[in-house]
Formats: sequence, C-alpha cells, structure tokens
Amino acid sequence: MSELAYKRTNVYEKADEQLLKDIFSYAEGYKTFIDEGKTERESCAWVEAAAKKQGYKPFKFGDKLKKGDKVYYNNRGKNIYLIKIGEKNVAEDGIRIIASHIDSPRIDLKQVPLYESDGIAFAKTHYYGGIRKYQWAAVPLALHGAVALKSGEVLNVKIGEDENDPVFYISDLLPHLAAKQNAKPLGEGLAGEDLNIWLGNIPYTAAADDKDKTVKENLLKILNDKYGMSEEDFLCAELSLVPAYKAKDIGFDRALIGAYGHDDRVCSYPAFTALFNEDSSAHTVMVILADKEEIGSEGTTGMQCALFTDLIDAIADSFGVSSAAVRANSKCLSADVNAGYDPNFRDVCEPLNSAYVSCGAGITKFTGARGKGGSNDADAEFVGFLRRIFAENNVIWQTGEMGKVDVGGGGTVAKYIAKNNIDTIDIGVPVISMHSPYEVISKADLYETYLAFKAFIK
Ligand code: MN
Ligand code: MN
Repeated sequence: MSELAYKRTNVYEKADEQLLKDIFSYAEGYKTFIDEGKTERESCAWVEAAAKKQGYKPFKFGDKLKKGDKVYYNNRGKNIYLIKIGEKNVAEDGIRIIASHIDSPRIDLKQVPLYESDGIAFAKTHYYGGIRKYQWAAVPLALHGAVALKSGEVLNVKIGEDENDPVFYISDLLPHLAAKQNAKPLGEGLAGEDLNIWLGNIPYTAAADDKDKTVKENLLKILNDKYGMSEEDFLCAELSLVPAYKAKDIGFDRALIGAYGHDDRVCSYPAFTALFNEDSSAHTVMVILADKEEIGSEGTTGMQCALFTDLIDAIADSFGVSSAAVRANSKCLSADVNAGYDPNFRDVCEPLNSAYVSCGAGITKFTGARGKGGSNDADAEFVGFLRRIFAENNVIWQTGEMGKVDVGGGGTVAKYIAKNNIDTIDIGVPVISMHSPYEVISKADLYETYLAFKAFIK
C-alpha cells in the first residue's frame, strides 16, 4: 500500500516494550477506579478525593480565580468540575474542556419498591438508560445509592461488593419452560415490569400475631436494625442495582478489560489523570465528569444544566474579560465511548467507518441518526487541529461511526456543549457489548485516549 493511502494502526502491533509496559500499568489504576466507583456518586467522591491530593481546592461562586489556581466544583455529589487556570490569557486562548460522564445504565429501585409474592420479597424497579433487559437477569447485582433519612442524615448504601456481602438477583425462565418466551422477539423476552429484584425469603417469625409473619416484615426489620430505615425512607432514596462484578483482564494475552460501566468511566479516568499529569500546561483546562448522560443529560447534574456556562462566566469574571470571548475560543473533547467493531456482528457495521478495538482513540465527527439528526457534526478544521497535535505527540487514533447508516445511532453531551459556541468533537474508547452488565474495552485504546487528552491539554 502506498503512503498516500490511509490505514488504521493497531496499537499492540506497533508498540515497543516501553509502550506495552505503560499500557498495562496504566490499566491497573483504571481497574481500581472502576471497581471503587460504580455510580456517579461513588465516582464523584473518588475523583474529589484524588483532586484534593493533587492540591485542588473547592470553588464557591463569588470566589475570584487567578492564574495557577486549581479548583473543583462538586455538584450535588453527582457531577464534578475540575478547573486549572493556566498562564495564557483566557479570553484569547479559551478553555480546553474535556467532558465525560460517570453515570452508567443500571436498574433503579422505584420509590415504593417492596412487595411480597408467594413467600418471596421483591423490589420493583425502573431501569435507567438504554439496556437490553434480558441481559440483566440471572447475574449477581449489588445495591448502591443514597437514602435521605428522616433525621436529615444521608445514608450511603453499598451492598454486594464485598466478598462476604450478599448480592441481589433478577430471575429468568429455565429453558425447559421457556418455549413461549423463546418465540418472542429478543427485546420482549423480559419486560420492564419483569425486572423485579429478589430480596428475601425468610418470614418474620418473632411477630406475636400471625398476620405479620411475612417476608416483607422481616426485611423491614433487618433494614431497621442495620440502617435505621423504615419503608417510607425509600420515597427519599436513590438506590440502584449494578452488576456485582469486578473488572478483569480478558483473554490469554490480557489485552482487554471486562467490567461494568466502561461507558463512560473509561473516558473519565483518562480525562482527570491527563489533567493531573499535565500540570504545567499554559492553557486553562476544565475537566467535567457529568451525570445523567444516559437519560439525555437532563437535570441539575446533567450537561444541559446552566452550571456549565455559570462556571465559564465565573472564570471570565475573575479576569474581567468577556465570557462570550472565552467560549468562542474554547475547544472541547466530548469524551465518550463509541461502538467497537465486533466481527461477530459485522452486519451492523460499515467496515471502513468503524472504530476497531486496539486501534487507538476513536474520533466520531458526528453521531446522531437518520441523516446525522441530533448531531453536532464537528468542523473539518477542528479535526485537522486534533490531527496535528496528535501527530506531534505520537497519539494513535482512528475514526468510527456508530454502525451503518440508518441501522441505529446515538448521542452524547457534545451538542449541549457545542450550542454554547464551543468547538466540540466526540472522542473516546471503542466498547464491545456496550450497555451490557459486562462491557469490554482494550487497554491499548484506554492508554491512547489518555495520551490524546494529554496532548489536548498540553
Ligand atoms: Mn456514554
Ligand atoms: Mn451510554
């Protein structure tokens, strides 16, 4: 093939001994992060603690920022902004923004969840984000979240992650009796209201009168003894079921990592570690770990919230410059995963324009569906800018769309940032089995994405 032709680079094929070592050791830190933060709340707390160690201080509106400042804004414990003020004039140079998200698809408890049926206690759920429901049955689930108790105290819940913890469960049919279910389309195998969580099976035998000898009553007693909770407390709770799996290397050669919720913590980790490790950058940098991306970036902790522009205004105000000028000169990487090319399902992918596992950070110029609908479609010039800085910093990258035209599609936070007059493009790690209880990524892509973010910040 001539040098005029374009070809993807396989990172593992090209890597020398040092790069391989770096790829594998970086992955170990990531696995710790992803195991210890399975929800936006846990990830947010983890990153806040890491930022403090790096000298980041909490920011309050009204504070005046100056060059060299390193601050963070923890938004309701579910979304965190890390900001480092650089030496350059922020009105002329803008802000280098990397925006990823720390919420992942999961199964949330309803507000009145508890019931008993035929001697089994269950919880009703309402799933969060785009899941294929049948994948979430017959796997161990851990319960994570927060309960706002009557006293005003907030109880943090994490059950099922410790080796000795119990886990929770959604049942499915045995093959022997599944003939009717098997005949249904896959998407209808389990309905939303079938995702009921198995909670317990022992009736409350200590009750004086027989009426109260129920499994649910026993459960309420356990919850009260252990956590001081009553049933009403579920009304003021955010409790989620997530897979009780740990991150593991996949394959004989350990090239890949399987874990719950790579989407999108596999881009969050490179975002904040790149910021921490590129400390002498002259640019002003903002790393955003957003919530609610999986349900449309809504609410106070999603990227559509005014907090994003409020913080940019606060930076501009600190230097007495126009916020519009800051935004006009800012650049943003919307750091989110894309669909990795899977040879087992090649019929949904267009081979020239797919992101391949282990071929580096994947740029998605446009997302959307049905004729790029709902996409911000980044400028050629912005891709060109990234091509230059990636080449200067030996970053291996590729480009990929989410599947064939008109087969599917998706969206990210990109358009909510771009609408503020900020050049924005999607870039991230290709994922296999996205939104399933156990997603797969390549350590090489994780590391190249980290190098890409470092190059962007530098
Ligand atoms: Mn995502
Ligand atoms: Mn997603």
